[in-house]
Amino acid sequence: MSTTLAFPSLRLTSPGHMSIAEQSLPKLREHEVLVKVAACGICGTDRHIYHGSYPATLPVVPGHEFAGHIEALGSGVANVEIGQFVTINPNIWCRHCQACLEGRPHLCSNMQALGVNLDGGMSLYCVVPEQLLYNVLPMIDPLKACLAEPISCVLHGLDRLEIKAGTRAAVFGGGFIGQLMLQAIQLQGATEVILVEPQAHKRQVANELGFATIDPFSEPSMMTKLKDLDFTVDCAGAGGVLTQCVNATKPGGDVLLFAAYPQGKALPIEPYEIFRKELRLIGTFTYPDTQLRAIRLIEKGAFELDSLITAVSLEEVQDYLEGLRDDEIIKAVVKL
Ligand SMILES: [Zn+2]
Ligand SMILES: [Zn+2]
Repeated sequence: MSTTLAFPSLRLTSPGHMSIAEQSLPKLREHEVLVKVAACGICGTDRHIYHGSYPATLPVVPGHEFAGHIEALGSGVANVEIGQFVTINPNIWCRHCQACLEGRPHLCSNMQALGVNLDGGMSLYCVVPEQLLYNVLPMIDPLKACLAEPISCVLHGLDRLEIKAGTRAAVFGGGFIGQLMLQAIQLQGATEVILVEPQAHKRQVANELGFATIDPFSEPSMMTKLKDLDFTVDCAGAGGVLTQCVNATKPGGDVLLFAAYPQGKALPIEPYEIFRKELRLIGTFTYPDTQLRAIRLIEKGAFELDSLITAVSLEEVQDYLEGLRDDEIIKAVVKL
């Protein structure tokens, strides 16, 4: 491999402006590896970064959900080998802020993330610090292996609850995270998980996987019957969904706020209901420790992912970030 080799990268220069640029291979520093990216998921966070509603350091190559093969090693790299198939945790923790020292590194005040502050995976090659790498069985499809990151986030969100077998829950929002949530909640022994989603194709995918669904706009009577659930999950981050979650949750139940609402956005909410029902409104952000479990579940085929993912090219990413294909797909994954 020549160090003068140029390769294509998708670069976001300012909100709404991105292009594919030829980039030359960077020199690896100590404890860094070069990953040849095989697949990279396009995520709601990427869309927020693209629109300037999530804090990022521009210019940047987006993409924090990726998998690929190790192509070259920097000095001092001891635990991985060239050719190994890996996926990554994109988050670099400072290890000395209060959150890090208290054992919650995913809440690090100085967090830097690949694809957010440092160049990420929407590129043929990406430089990755060795400590972010996780091995994956080589026969696993990269289009699935790269989803270890969002699955890790979902598992951590559910770890924040105390889910018991036989539980009843509803997920609001049937995008990719909502669909993963349905499956993960069922894996944990729920007897009923309902998806609330206005878009027909998202409901259809969930129906085909055996989940009950409600269209909140055309089935208002079903919405009023949706109550006394053990917990609800907001994976929509829009409209009156958080209020609907509060209304559908049983006294003493939990509302998990998974969706990334735009920074600075305020919502009308009726605190009396939270007070009177003694609800717990629980936030969740990235994950500290769920990635090994996520990879094991992918390797076992525990999640039905084939009906959720659509392979796209680097050239198509901007259309997906603009939301031009939202009526067609659940999750776009860039195949490099
Ligand atoms: Zn993501
Ligand atoms: Zn920290």
